[in-house]
Amino acid sequence: MSWLTRVRNRIPFVTKRDTPDNLWQKCKKCQEMLFTKDYEENLWVCPRCDDHGRIGADARLGQIMDPGFEVLPAPTVKEDPLKFKDSKRYTDRLKAARHNAPHPDALTNAVGAIDGRKAVVGVQDFGFMGGSMGMAVGAAFLAGVSRAVAEKAPYVIFTAAGGARMQEGILSLMQMPRTTVAIQQLKAAGLPYIVVLTDPTTGGVTASYAMLGDIQMAEPNALIGFAGQRVIQDTIREKLPEGFQRAEYLHAHGMIDMVVHRKDLRGTLAEVIDYLMAAKQAA
Ligand SMILES: [Zn+2]
Repeated sequence: MSWLTRVRNRIPFVTKRDTPDNLWQKCKKCQEMLFTKDYEENLWVCPRCDDHGRIGADARLGQIMDPGFEVLPAPTVKEDPLKFKDSKRYTDRLKAARHNAPHPDALTNAVGAIDGRKAVVGVQDFGFMGGSMGMAVGAAFLAGVSRAVAEKAPYVIFTAAGGARMQEGILSLMQMPRTTVAIQQLKAAGLPYIVVLTDPTTGGVTASYAMLGDIQMAEPNALIGFAGQRVIQDTIREKLPEGFQRAEYLHAHGMIDMVVHRKDLRGTLAEVIDYLMAAKQAA
C-alpha cells in the first residue's frame, strides 16, 4: 500500500465544504485526492483530469486581476421584501449563507487591472445560495456597470448561477430586464462587455446578462443552459446528444465564441480587451 493510499484511507469523508482548511481535497470528477496547496497553485484545476473546480470571488479575482485591485462595496437592497418562508425563513437562509461567505451576496465586483488593462470585474459565487440572482445581484451588476462607465473601462463578468432567487419571486425575475438595460448603458458608452461562463450557469442568468456579451467565453466543460436536461428530455421526448449544454457543445454550435482553459483566461481577457478597446478608439 502506498503512502498516499494509506493517508487517503484514513480520511474517507474529506470534502471542501466540511473542512475548508483541510490539507487535502477530493476532485469531484475523478475523485483524486489533491494536496490543497498544489490544487490552489494549479488554479483549482485538477492536475489529473483537468476538471475546473468551482471557485468563489476572492480566488477568481486573485487569479485574474493584478495585485492591488479594490473590491467594491456591495450595494444595500431591501431584504426579504416578500417575507418569504418555505421550510426555513429566507432571512435565516441568508444569514446561514453569509456565515460561510466572505461577501454579503452572490455577486462581487472589483476595480483594477487585468495584466495592465484597466477593468471592472464581477464574479458570481455559486457557493452563495447557488449564485442565485436576486435584487442584491441585480444591484451589484448595475454598480459594476456604473463603475465601468465612470472608469471608461470594460465590464468583465464571471457567471455562475442556478438561476433566479425564488425567495424573491417576481422581484428576482425583474433583474433580467434591469441588467439588460445596464448592458445597453455600457454599449452606449462604447465600452466592451465580456462574459466568462463558468460551471454552472443556468436559468434566468443564462436568459439575461450571461448571454449578452460582446465576447462570450466559457471554461472547459462548464454546464451552460436554461432549463435542466431532464426537463428538456421529458418535453421533447428525445434522447439528448452527448455533451449537451456543455461549453464545448455550445462552442461547436456557435452559441459562444471560445472555450478557454483557466490558465489562459487572464492572457486571453487582456488580448480581447486590447482588441475591443482599440476598435472603440478607431470608431
Ligand atoms: Zn480530477
